[in-house]
Amino acid sequence: MKQLYLPKLFKTFFTSKIALLINCILFAFAANAQITSISESCGSSHLHQQMMQNNANYASKVFANEQRLVKYKNSTYLNKSTSSQTRVVPVVFHVMNDGTPLTQISKDDIKKAIKEMNERFRKIAGSEGDGNGVDVGIEFALAVRDPNGNCTDGINYWDISGNANFTNYVNNGVSSANGNPGVPDVTFKNLARWNPTQYYNIWVVGKINGPVDVVAGYALLADGAHGIDADGTVVQAKYVKFGTTLTHELGHAFNLYHTFEGDGNGGQCPTNGDCETDGDRVCDTPPHKRSTSCDAATNSCTGASNAAHVHNYMDYSGGSCQNEFTAGQKARMLFAIDSIRKSFLASEGNMSLVPPAVADADFINPTTVACVGTNLKFYDKSTCTPNTFLNTEFPGISFSWTVKKNGNTVHTSTNQNLSYTFIDSGNYTITLQVTNTNGTDSKTSNLLITNPAIVAVCQPGSFNPPNNYDATLNNVTFGNINNTTSISKNGAYQDFSCTSATIVDALQTYPLTISVKSFASSAQRYEAYIDYNNNGIFEYPNELVASGTGVINQNKSYLHNVTIPDTAVKGKIIRLRVMSDVHAFTDNKR
Ligand SMILES: [Zn+2]
Repeated sequence: MKQLYLPKLFKTFFTSKIALLINCILFAFAANAQITSISESCGSSHLHQQMMQNNANYASKVFANEQRLVKYKNSTYLNKSTSSQTRVVPVVFHVMNDGTPLTQISKDDIKKAIKEMNERFRKIAGSEGDGNGVDVGIEFALAVRDPNGNCTDGINYWDISGNANFTNYVNNGVSSANGNPGVPDVTFKNLARWNPTQYYNIWVVGKINGPVDVVAGYALLADGAHGIDADGTVVQAKYVKFGTTLTHELGHAFNLYHTFEGDGNGGQCPTNGDCETDGDRVCDTPPHKRSTSCDAATNSCTGASNAAHVHNYMDYSGGSCQNEFTAGQKARMLFAIDSIRKSFLASEGNMSLVPPAVADADFINPTTVACVGTNLKFYDKSTCTPNTFLNTEFPGISFSWTVKKNGNTVHTSTNQNLSYTFIDSGNYTITLQVTNTNGTDSKTSNLLITNPAIVAVCQPGSFNPPNNYDATLNNVTFGNINNTTSISKNGAYQDFSCTSATIVDALQTYPLTISVKSFASSAQRYEAYIDYNNNGIFEYPNELVASGTGVINQNKSYLHNVTIPDTAVKGKIIRLRVMSDVHAFTDNKR
């Protein structure tokens, strides 16, 4: 291999530039097309109704708890939903391997799902949960103590290939309720369950109710289910990786009905004579028929806009427009956690989030190279350490971050996760120290902050936002770059040239993976370029490093190998641009 000459580094910098529907002139994406967003059904109502009919104990608990809830809402001495205390629910994921790609899901995928669900429940500013709703005050964290008292990361991968039900599971998945194909619900849950009074169980599966993908997930309401064998959420793996399905199911788990409860499968307006006891039993959600898309429309049950329900996580509108729980829903959820499900709370003696051993300190380093002025986020991923990814404090656990530039401390923080803006160039070290009642551990990693002149390039435009077509570029990996953006919401052009970079060598070959989600009626095309000569123009075909076409209605990752030419400009940050469009690419789009 020919050695490149570069002062100090002998390396070439590349930056990632993920552009969604990139273009140098404005163009309409699927202009005027009538797009129906994907709306996956939920199996919760059907199962709940069967349990109400067939399980007297379940039904009596539902009636009793609903009566308690009415008293709670009417009481003046209870703190009700104004309590600012954060409730953290310990969860355990059971990934039930069916031997197919349907159940392939990584721990990072699951942690990202927890983070995003928490952002939705807490209505975190700037996140996808930052809608018109309220901060529910409930968060979720993967368990750190297993039922035997040992450290765990709260994610179990189960091999059930030796079980008599395995063939049925592979072919049909789980049956959410009697009459559907698949392994019966409780029979399936009996394969892997942690004490349901101490952990909220989530089973990740490949199929529900047979091979046709209709039901994304299901969960029983707290009222009748807390602590019983049927309690927990069952969800298809692909709906853990993106969308609002988990948030929706955990809404059920904390006692929310669908906002359209009582619509007779969409055929009638729900009764709403007494909003406390009819329909979804919540007074600040209007009666409506289930939505089938995010389209603006009139609520035929009220004559008002559908805006009052279409953004609600408990409707069927779809993930691309859902971003709110209401205050009335929050009151039901807080009653569920503070009363019915209080055995999940550390304040009630739950030990699932209490570390049984010293942590092995670790954190996610978002990049190894970044520009001056860049804000970077470092997420704690230490073992035996609970994380809501929102810097929630846990008793007995403390964190100490130290940022050093050229050996001198420039910043410290005691938050669990670090956010810091690097204002000067230099060689940095980032150290995280984690202390719990069992001891202390630390980890350090390196980061180079550079002050390069990045060559200007055309700034693309797109008509996509605020509309969404469920068509996205949502992940790019290359060297140390692993850049993920929303799978359902198209953020149009985004520039990551200073926050996600990697160092590569000339004449070496690196894998480049691009994840493309196509919408329901057309496949997305994609192209990737590296501006090797750093002239600000993405030249076709010389600088094209990857291209292809996605699959309708699917999210797929495409692997390409990229060999860096010896002619590439070295010692500078140069751009990688990835673009996607439903139409063919032309020179004026590059
Ligand atoms: Zn549901």
